[in-house]
Amino acid sequence: MSVQDYTTPEPPLWRRVWSAPEQEISSAGFGGELLVAGLRLLTFVVLLFFPLRELLLQKKAGSDVLALLTAATVGLGLALALYSATNRHWGRAWIGFASSLLDVSLVSAVLTISLILGRPHEATNNLAVFPVYLLAIAATSLRYDARICLLSGALAVSQYLAVVLYADWRWNLNSAAFAPYLYGQFHWSTQLWRMAQLLGATVLATTLVVRSRELRLLSTRDRFTGLLNRAVFGEQLEREIAFARREDGRFAVAMIDIDHFKKFNDTYGHAGGDEALQSVAKTLRESCRATDVVARYGGEEFALVLPGVMSGRATDLLERIRRVLAVKPIHLPNRAKPVSLTVSVGVALWPDDGQNAAEILQCADQRLYQAKSQGRDRVVGPAPGRHRTPAQRAADAEEDQTVSMTPVVPPE
Ligand code: GH3
Ligand code: MG
Ligand code: MG
Repeated sequence: MSVQDYTTPEPPLWRRVWSAPEQEISSAGFGGELLVAGLRLLTFVVLLFFPLRELLLQKKAGSDVLALLTAATVGLGLALALYSATNRHWGRAWIGFASSLLDVSLVSAVLTISLILGRPHEATNNLAVFPVYLLAIAATSLRYDARICLLSGALAVSQYLAVVLYADWRWNLNSAAFAPYLYGQFHWSTQLWRMAQLLGATVLATTLVVRSRELRLLSTRDRFTGLLNRAVFGEQLEREIAFARREDGRFAVAMIDIDHFKKFNDTYGHAGGDEALQSVAKTLRESCRATDVVARYGGEEFALVLPGVMSGRATDLLERIRRVLAVKPIHLPNRAKPVSLTVSVGVALWPDDGQNAAEILQCADQRLYQAKSQGRDRVVGPAPGRHRTPAQRAADAEEDQTVSMTPVVPPE
């Protein structure tokens, strides 16, 4: 059974491999991206050391040393740019693709420099540079995105094949007359074996990503609804707070509770209640953006984090979701007519309504309680146009504005 969607069968293998990672997976992948960016930077600093040392010792630069110096300097510049972009959370959706493909291309670029210098055996039988392809492919597994593993592997094989084909066409490497330097005789069987190694590394990295993604989903999702569980919601909220503090960002938190759910269970049975919970979870997921955090907080309670949502929009957004839920028909087994239910919602804003996770959640919870006590089926958010500290909020709690006045619709 899939942990993603309780109601649908497990997706086919190609879908499990070729799909964007879930939110908590891409968060982990982002940590991996930062690690790879740091390692890449360190590698180029070390690489730059060798030609610089040669230059200082020999006082004159041969073409080898100059080529290595140029490659290491260009590589260091790119590594620095990628590190600072990653650190600033730029291009979160594509930076993993760009940096992995760049890593592979940098290896091919070094082999191409050997070709340009007229050393085809160095390019095709290189024992020091070729394994870096394998490292670059292995590092893709830290991004937790199988698509990146596959694309990087395909690029490594095609670029290396292009290097070997060109070298063989241009220099006819099997020719006995050709001096093989210290890199040994050229054999196509060795080259094919090398490409098989690249493919093998790609399959291993992809499998590792797919397996660890499935394991991570098991520990982060509520098996019943497929939404994030409460523990991960807490982690994501802390992450959003850290990000908002650093970038002076805004976000909203919403607590959503199904109205009269006990009565719903009594009327339609526990199985009917279960069906309704899954329907609400699905509607919530569909109504939110991919970057929003949607979690099952407890029994019939849900919690959302909506990054980048400013004060004015938060209550409107939740009001729209409330209305969608209220009209959504829920089809229950053994029942010809669909039924519906309503929810009450409390909304709190960062940083106006709290300075930490506990304060923000407490504020959203208080407003949910107000929504319940004012008659249910409504959203209670902050008063429009007001930025309040927690102390002011406590004093003003009574004045929070009720947005919706739709009457309660108890189950038929
Ligand atoms: P209110 O409008 O004040 O929220 O009333 P309520 O009846 O929804 O709230 P209450 O806390 O009294 O009851 C919550 C109910 O939710 C009781 C419990 O049986 C039901 N519930 C919690 N988790 C599940 C679940 O996984 N499946 C089903 N079917 N029911 C559940
Ligand atoms: Mg309830
Ligand atoms: Mg409840």
